[in-house]
Amino acid sequence: MITGNNIVNEERINEVLKATVNPGAQRIHDILDKAKEKKGLELEDIGCLVNLTEPVLLQELFDAAGKIKNEIYGERIVFFAPLYVSNYCVNDCEYCNFHSSNKELVRKKLTFDETEQQIKCLLNMGHKRVLVEFGEDPANNIDYACQIIEKIYSVTTDKGSIRRINVNVAAASTEDYHKLKSAKIGTYQIFQETYHRKTYEMLHHGPKADYERQITAHIRAFKAGIDDLGVGVLFGLYDWRYEVLAIVSHAQYMDKNYGVGPHTISVPRFCPAQTVTYKPEYPVSDNDFLKLIAILRLAVPYTGMIISTRERPEIRKAAFKLGISQASAGSVTTPGGYGKEDSKDFQFQLHDRRSLAEVIENILEDKYLPSFCTACYRSGRTGEHFMELSKPGEIHNFCRPNGLLTFAEYLEDFAQDRLYKKGYEVINYYLNKMGGNDLGKKTKESLEKIKQGKRDLYF
Ligand code: SF4
Ligand code: SF4
Repeated sequence: MITGNNIVNEERINEVLKATVNPGAQRIHDILDKAKEKKGLELEDIGCLVNLTEPVLLQELFDAAGKIKNEIYGERIVFFAPLYVSNYCVNDCEYCNFHSSNKELVRKKLTFDETEQQIKCLLNMGHKRVLVEFGEDPANNIDYACQIIEKIYSVTTDKGSIRRINVNVAAASTEDYHKLKSAKIGTYQIFQETYHRKTYEMLHHGPKADYERQITAHIRAFKAGIDDLGVGVLFGLYDWRYEVLAIVSHAQYMDKNYGVGPHTISVPRFCPAQTVTYKPEYPVSDNDFLKLIAILRLAVPYTGMIISTRERPEIRKAAFKLGISQASAGSVTTPGGYGKEDSKDFQFQLHDRRSLAEVIENILEDKYLPSFCTACYRSGRTGEHFMELSKPGEIHNFCRPNGLLTFAEYLEDFAQDRLYKKGYEVINYYLNKMGGNDLGKKTKESLEKIKQGKRDLYF
């Protein structure tokens, strides 16, 4: 039987962390050279990187991560929004405002009509991808989740419809994952929160307290045919150095045993909330946070990395340079909260409250290309097939044109004058870079069609 220890070996991680204290400059240079081959790193290499403190070497690490980010992911930042569907939860996680002992929280699960109204709000902002989030509640189980997903896909406005639904739902059985697969989900995300077993068991109460159930969830999901899987931890619960090695161990386990590494790694940091008295024992400084993003970028180069609105705008901006390829924007973490006054019933405090349009305008300054692309999922480029393209860096050939097309759609449908102008400057900049090859020509033709009113064109 596969246990958590087969996936993440705590003892080995601790040994590596001890053995790699004070890595010399030559060792770091060798590791950075190896990382530039974009084939990933071993745990010993990662141990050296998490232990490095020398500012000059740290800058070299950031430079190497930026280079890899640019070579694999290019200039695109893919945007999505979370949709909190239900805050009913049987767990009492100490870091979350939806914890079951929070009696002040107004519990809510969206009806189908409310779901439709929320999706219309998101479509009117310009979103095409959502991440649906559910608390764990046997009364609002996988069947409810599947019905909500079906409802979301059915909502259409003159601005189109949601094209990809990623899902964050509690660890489930293989049978339930089969149902989720049938509901045509995009990525299934489930985070370990902390890979440190003792800390995990201390902070969780309820069914989620079962470390084994949580850490083996991806295996059950994979067996049920879900091959786009997301991992992550909540940074702050335990030593970030350990967590980075553990995430990579998990990714390597998936890759080795299933031929498919994680599709995404999420890097949430603990944020306070209304009734959460828990204070993180291992707070992660801004500098360490950026460092861990850079290390993950080198260690698992082919995996997308996600940042949320938990982070302040300046941290998000810095993180985009180092490795982040997907970001939420304009988010609300209260079920039914889009289009409403702020409520105190949020899951955690947000530190980027800007609208999607404001975030987009801001990243254009750095010549990033905002993207709403969902092409891979819709073209069947998932799991192993996706990895075949992403590992050698070929996925980039799809990402740029699709980013251009989906951003042009956004500009045509939502942008005011100033943003429209700035947006097309960036589109033309990258279009010119594509030159007159076949793909460049086809992209140009599709951009013209979008200006004339065509939508949903992709490669
Ligand atoms: Fe429930 Fe998830 Fe919050 Fe834990 S983190 S209390 S499982 S909603
Ligand atoms: Fe993502 Fe694929 Fe689109 Fe690239 S082409 S942004 S990998 S969906």
